[in-house]
Amino acid sequence: MSQPVFVVEDEKKIARVVKAYLEGAGYRVLHFEKGRDAIDYALKETPILAILDLMLPDMSGEEVFQGLKEIGDFPIIMLTAKSSEEERVAGFALGADDYVVKPFSPRELVFRVKAVLKRAQKKDMGDTESMSFNNGLLIIDGRSYEVKKNNSPVSLTPTEFKVLFVIASYPGKVFTRYELVEKALGYQFEGYERSVDAHIKNLRHKIEDDPKRPLFIHTIYGVGYRFGGKRDV
Ligand code: CA
Repeated sequence: MSQPVFVVEDEKKIARVVKAYLEGAGYRVLHFEKGRDAIDYALKETPILAILDLMLPDMSGEEVFQGLKEIGDFPIIMLTAKSSEEERVAGFALGADDYVVKPFSPRELVFRVKAVLKRAQKKDMGDTESMSFNNGLLIIDGRSYEVKKNNSPVSLTPTEFKVLFVIASYPGKVFTRYELVEKALGYQFEGYERSVDAHIKNLRHKIEDDPKRPLFIHTIYGVGYRFGGKRDV
């Protein structure tokens, strides 16, 4: 299952429309009328993005915002009825990734969601220097998208590169398939988890001496994958 988009909004009509449009765009949407419920649920399942109404019955939008931000580094789009410059500034000052003023077009909100997610993904991939592992045996360059094994260029597909880049950015961390899809490929790949295995298999053939006994990409049975390379200082 893909990571959900949270819609935190007490106005049922708005929530219903937003949910329908987002679902139409392929997102899994969870709706909460109360800020507290959204925060509690986020502890169980982190959203890929949250759309947050600033005027909620139980907590202030700011409190909910802070509560969600403490749980994870996912983007938040604020909804508000007021359009004053001050509110806009306050929303961005909190660290909102975008700000939508009611009444808004649900279609536009979907565009904003996509744009914010794309930006967040780029940030994950961006401004990354070259990473070298195992005394220069494997070099991954996040700027040029080049990979070298034993100083020879390795030809990877863009997806293979992203998967490798994400997993190698956190040596030792175990990634579930689901996390890899989300981090490397983005939300739009519903039901894509299984094909991670195929990408990993191809990657191993390209970067491992012996794909059956991988040095870099280890399988953690029942969980996912872990990068086993040692980053050079
Ligand atoms: Ca409200």
